[in-house]
Amino acid sequence: MSNTLLQTAAANLKKAVPLMLKYKIPTTPTNYALWYAYVGEQNPLLNQELDTAVKQNQTYSPVTSELLYRKHVADPVELNVRDMRKNLDAMVCELSQSLKDTNLDTETFQTQIEKDFKKLNDLENQGFSLEQVIGVIRSIVKESSNIRSSTESFTEQLQKAQSEINILKTRLAESEKDMLFDALTNVLNRRAFDHDIEAQVSLSPAGTCLIIIDIDHFKVFNDTFGHQLGDLVLKTVAKRIQEACRDGIKLYRFGGEEFAIIVPSSQFRVARQLAEGIRRALEKLSVKDRRSDKVIDSITASFGVCEWKPKQNVSQLIEATDKLLYEAKRLGRNRVMPIAN
Ligand code: GH3
Ligand code: MG
Ligand code: MG
Repeated sequence: MSNTLLQTAAANLKKAVPLMLKYKIPTTPTNYALWYAYVGEQNPLLNQELDTAVKQNQTYSPVTSELLYRKHVADPVELNVRDMRKNLDAMVCELSQSLKDTNLDTETFQTQIEKDFKKLNDLENQGFSLEQVIGVIRSIVKESSNIRSSTESFTEQLQKAQSEINILKTRLAESEKDMLFDALTNVLNRRAFDHDIEAQVSLSPAGTCLIIIDIDHFKVFNDTFGHQLGDLVLKTVAKRIQEACRDGIKLYRFGGEEFAIIVPSSQFRVARQLAEGIRRALEKLSVKDRRSDKVIDSITASFGVCEWKPKQNVSQLIEATDKLLYEAKRLGRNRVMPIAN
């Protein structure tokens, strides 16, 4: 091990503190955990968001810190947050204490060794007895075995901490996944949509197109064949739409039986064609109800498609797309609005 491990952990600890001082981040356990993760560079999303947070405000508020912590270090639903937080805090405290202890021991050791060498020197100058020399050498050996054992126990603690950090990281990765994906359909969820559309519109809005899809008369599937079959229809529809989304085009579950597609830097015509293609593909879908053995092949959906217009904000873009979707419903469903020209 573990020289590398020791060095990495120590280096991370040493990197995190100056950064926190630089940005005037209060040295709370939460912040410490965040910045330890930051300098570890294991979670690019966290780094990006921390960068943005400090850039925007020079320093960042306890609220930001708490939000980032919740988002990247804990998931209130999936994890026992309190326990995890306690573990992480304890671990970080232990780690920095060990680091301090070792530094202290090293210093003591150095002073001691210097003293011992001086003694040896003196003995040499004054004429010496074998016993005296052996005495001094013994004390050097003893000191070095002290420092070795304290380094070993530090290394052990680091190793333990490192494996705990690894477990936490796995859990974090899982909770991050839960936070972005819809459990039923496995496509990106509304939270991911809100995040992505905001980023898209603020960073490179030109040519951004939004498609909102709503399954027609979906309630009827639920009412006639039960909720489970309704779920199966949703999954099948999501899968089919996902197959049509390529080249950076992302699909999201927007609401119950509604989906959204963000088409970045495209042309309206292209986005509309994509919607039309999906509409036709859904028309052809069929799902078999296991209980009644009946095949459901009357799945259709309605679509609204919009291209971002200069000065439009996210909610205006969504509202405009929603309006067209409503229009498609009103005109009889199973269609894409606006009509192609
Ligand atoms: P329209 O053509 O006007 O869109 O009619 P609709 O029946 O699709 O629309 P409505 O909004 O009346 O009903 C949507 C239904 O979708 C109601 C709700 O119970 C159902 N739903 C929402 N989420 C889920 C889900 O996760 N699973 C199932 N099985 N049903 C869901
Ligand atoms: Mg709906
Ligand atoms: Mg519907």
